[in-house]
Amino acid sequence: MSDVQSYANEPSKKKGELIWANIIFFGLSFLAAVTLVPWYGMEYGYHWSTWMWGIGLWLFSSTSISMGYHRLWSHRAYEANAFLRGLLAFGGCLALQNSALHWSSDHRMHHKHVDHDEKDPYSASLGFWHSHIGWILKRRDNGRYNEQYDRCPDLKRQKIVMFQHKYYWVLSIGLNVAVPALLGLAYGHFWEMMLVAGVFRLVWSHHLTFFINSLAHIWGSRPYTEENSARDNFILAVLTGGEGYHNYHHKFQLDYRNGIRWWHFDPSKWWIKSLSWIGVTKNLKVAPAHKIERAKAETLLLKAKEKTAHLPNAEEIMQKLHDEYDQLVAHMAEFYEAKKAWIESKKADLAHEIAEEKAHLIENYEQFKLKLEEQKLNWMKLARQYA
Ligand SMILES: [Zn+2]
Ligand SMILES: [Zn+2]
Repeated sequence: MSDVQSYANEPSKKKGELIWANIIFFGLSFLAAVTLVPWYGMEYGYHWSTWMWGIGLWLFSSTSISMGYHRLWSHRAYEANAFLRGLLAFGGCLALQNSALHWSSDHRMHHKHVDHDEKDPYSASLGFWHSHIGWILKRRDNGRYNEQYDRCPDLKRQKIVMFQHKYYWVLSIGLNVAVPALLGLAYGHFWEMMLVAGVFRLVWSHHLTFFINSLAHIWGSRPYTEENSARDNFILAVLTGGEGYHNYHHKFQLDYRNGIRWWHFDPSKWWIKSLSWIGVTKNLKVAPAHKIERAKAETLLLKAKEKTAHLPNAEEIMQKLHDEYDQLVAHMAEFYEAKKAWIESKKADLAHEIAEEKAHLIENYEQFKLKLEEQKLNWMKLARQYA
């Protein structure tokens, strides 16, 4: 069986009526993007400004989905001021992926029931096609179509979200036509702007976002959890403004970051963090470092266990793995405790006479840090042999 959990609901793949409006729209736009766009280019050529606007509108709309629909509204991983919320709602209209309220409702369902054939709207358990786009083309009876957005009472109280939801189709269709048309008129390249900044940009950004539901549940590594099919994938992170660290995201969905190391390619994280320095965003949530480290070690332990279970000396290996793992967890606890004590002492306005105590805390912290680093090396050396 694949890593994706199957709930043996084979008939569910077949039932459900086709949504013709979506089939025609996605079919025609895709066809135009792969035929008309290259044909026009070969026949008449494109001006560089057309591609500049195409790329600009793609980045703006996909960042609105990642920073807005996903991290701000679906997960409430940070807070944003009204200006940024308005801008993200506007960009969400250009992305043409339904309203923030609708998108978030689906997405909360996805996290809650990930990989469940019926309850996950774009479950990877039903294969690439279904999780990529099939779920948009076919109505399935899982309560998504007559819902009252009960999963999002918080969003129902937000004026910007509800305004966007109410006027979504007028706004998004209007903007997707008006923005490239006005740009085309302004630059005197009407048709090429319609094709590139309108059609091609939309199809391109649609499918890249859809890859997070499909490819990011199929292709990549699972360092933080193997309980679901979500993967970390650098290439997808680059293509989707940081959304490709999907294994981490499914484990720690409240974190405003998807790529947690400073060098992980996650522009949405960089935007959110930078905007917090000027007060546009605030209350950025991050998962506690010890929980992240522990999840990684636990996943490695499980992988090693699984891979060695059939060996004749499995019991002996298991014992060794457990010993090293237990030591690692103990060192982690010591280190994070010492770190917490040190940080608290830095915050507190300590009197001069307890400076000695402060020095002791720093010493403790440094010492436990070294011990943990050493144990991490031992652990990795052992676990990597088997995992
Ligand atoms: Zn997912
Ligand atoms: Zn999510």
